[in-house]
Amino acid sequence: MDFELTEEQRMMRDTARKFAEQEIMPDLRETIRQERFDSSIIKKMADQGLLAPHLPKEYGGLGLDYVTSSIIWESLCSVSLAVTQAAVSGPIQPATNLLDAGSEEQKKKYLPPVCSGELILSGAVVEPNAGSDSSMIETTAVRKGDRWIINGSNIFITNGEIADVVLFIAQTDKSKGLKGLASFIVERDTPGFSSTPMKGKISWRGGSEGSLSFTDLELPLENQIGETGRALRDALRGIDTARLFLAAGAVGLAQGCLDASIKYAQERVQFGKPIGGHQLIQGIIADMATRIEAARWLTYRAADLKDRNIRHIKEMSYAKYFATETALWVATQAVKVHGSFGTFDDFPVGHHYQDAITATILGGTAQMHQLTIGQQLLEIPAFR
Ligand SMILES: Cc1cc2nc3c(=O)[nH]c(=O)nc-3n(C[C@H](O)[C@H](O)[C@H](O)COP(=O)(O)OP(=O)(O)OC[C@H]3O[C@@H](n4cnc5c(N)ncnc54)[C@H](O)[C@@H]3O)c2cc1C
Repeated sequence: MDFELTEEQRMMRDTARKFAEQEIMPDLRETIRQERFDSSIIKKMADQGLLAPHLPKEYGGLGLDYVTSSIIWESLCSVSLAVTQAAVSGPIQPATNLLDAGSEEQKKKYLPPVCSGELILSGAVVEPNAGSDSSMIETTAVRKGDRWIINGSNIFITNGEIADVVLFIAQTDKSKGLKGLASFIVERDTPGFSSTPMKGKISWRGGSEGSLSFTDLELPLENQIGETGRALRDALRGIDTARLFLAAGAVGLAQGCLDASIKYAQERVQFGKPIGGHQLIQGIIADMATRIEAARWLTYRAADLKDRNIRHIKEMSYAKYFATETALWVATQAVKVHGSFGTFDDFPVGHHYQDAITATILGGTAQMHQLTIGQQLLEIPAFR
């Protein structure tokens, strides 16, 4: 075991942190107040090699391992998890899915422009009546000659309102259940496809979500990705990568809160000394740092197993569950350390506090990860 970061990992960590401070931080308060994600950040991230570190070089990524990619994601998210997720979600979940299940032609067509930030790709699984339970997917795909006719909808889709291309799942034969599900890709200008922005969030206001609608949408057969019946299985690598990103991002969010809290506790004077000199505040800082360190190593461990292609279902759930719950706890402590100033958006902890709750829901809720861990350990099915 070697717990030291390599020279390359330190360099990527510092590059990502500098990028986030220079390109995300300055507009962050207005982005959040206006609930407006500026998609130009995607191209800027691509130009710095930060958009798709984990995707293979042959398709425009950097071909880096998942531990190094996690370190990059952690650094970017120490400034804003919501903005970073909106920027990188295409390369993370749907692009990884496409990489695994797409034909060579499909990969060559879509992956390079996604990696260069020229094409925004969304991945759509969740529907109004199908959240954690994908077996409830209601969008239908009916084969008619050389076309698929699609009807249905999705909600909460990252960049759904601005995506150029969407990878989504539909049911081809309800009687087959999960074995009837198939993946498809649709380009925005296809008749029958429409999207609506979803506004009014109390959290993740720097992100971008939309609902999608498919009304007698006609797709040629070549727009199917992978085989019918394998859609959820094919999506798993992408979902697994999204979970790793969220674990790393939650560690970054928590680290951002800790950094700000240490600085504030050193500067804010009450009762004749910096508040950091009071032992109760030192205790909070110590607990924040200890939990972050634990979350960080759970995340790197899951990333390392993923890099080595070793089964890691339980370990990824440990990381995603613990890191996001830790971020929520740490962000709450950080606001307390900042007192009333912490409740205003002039201070960096306010937006982290807002975002932390959403990190516990995306990429599988805390309960879904508890159930996953429980069923792995008990060897008793937890979902049915
Ligand atoms: C900012 C944001 C971005 C998103 N981006 C995307 C995207 O790009 N693509 C996409 O497809 N989706 C996306 N989502 C949707 C997200 O993945 C879902 O919201 C999430 O999976 C949970 O589904 P749900 O909200 O329908 O909750 P539900 O599944 O309805 O769950 C509600 C509550 O019930 C609990 N629960 C459910 N079943 C059980 C059970 N068996 N035992 C115990 N508790 C249970 C859950 O843990 C949760 O607490 C996004 C959501 C947000 C907020």
